[in-house]
Amino acid sequence: MDELLRIDDLELKVGARTILNGFHFVLHRGEKAVMFGPNGAGKSSLIYAILGYPGYQVTRGKIFFQGRDITELPTNERVKLGLGVSFQNPPAIRGIKLSEMLNVCRPGISPDEAARRAAELNLTDFLARDINLGFSGGEVKRSELLQIIAQQPALALFDEPDSGVDLENVELLGRRINAYLKDNSGLIITHQGYILNFIEVTRACVLYDGRVVCSGDPKGILEDIRQKGYEGCVKCRVRKNDEK
Ligand code: ADP
Ligand code: MG
Repeated sequence: MDELLRIDDLELKVGARTILNGFHFVLHRGEKAVMFGPNGAGKSSLIYAILGYPGYQVTRGKIFFQGRDITELPTNERVKLGLGVSFQNPPAIRGIKLSEMLNVCRPGISPDEAARRAAELNLTDFLARDINLGFSGGEVKRSELLQIIAQQPALALFDEPDSGVDLENVELLGRRINAYLKDNSGLIITHQGYILNFIEVTRACVLYDGRVVCSGDPKGILEDIRQKGYEGCVKCRVRKNDEK
């Protein structure tokens, strides 16, 4: 299988603080992977590093996307190459309507298709509203997903698509993300895992202590985390990091 994303031996710093250290990760085209990790493990920081946000300094290692070294590329170039992100806490953008944002990110689908997709996510009335302004937790996450569907990136990164979302919305989001991922590649970041009841992922890994400490069957790993907590889970010697 073709490598879509390769992260080699990453050291990531924010200010003087080291967030990731010795981080290896590979995602192949067509894969739908999940990354678990406790609060503060560095999951969102990893996404910012992949996007090349200022302040998230790669002090060692490389990030390759579709075979190209993107470690030094500006964010807009990375997005043009096909990176898409559904953010954990996207900002409200006063003065820009959701429909206008869809026009910007929409090479993938037609305006009619965008309207149909908005309806599937119960967002028809939101197209004329300023992005995320006064949106509830579930509405924000559905709007993020709609933008991913419009963008059709080569790789979609979903940062905690289930955080701050009620159970009914988690099911709707999970089913729609699953439908999207049928024909697309994605990485879902979550610390709860409930949304995985609705999404078929092919592989899971655990981010702990700044690196991927194990990788394998999603259901087995989630069960271990639920039973033993993250600390107990990472003591497991059966699954070794196979991300190299
Ligand atoms: P996660 O998404 O796994 O919960 P984050 O990536 O948000 O974790 O954060 C990892 C750690 O890095 C946290 O301790 C957080 O406070 C810190 N961190 C992340 N971004 C910044 C920043 N811009 N400034 C200072 N600290 C940061
Ligand atoms: Mg986070």
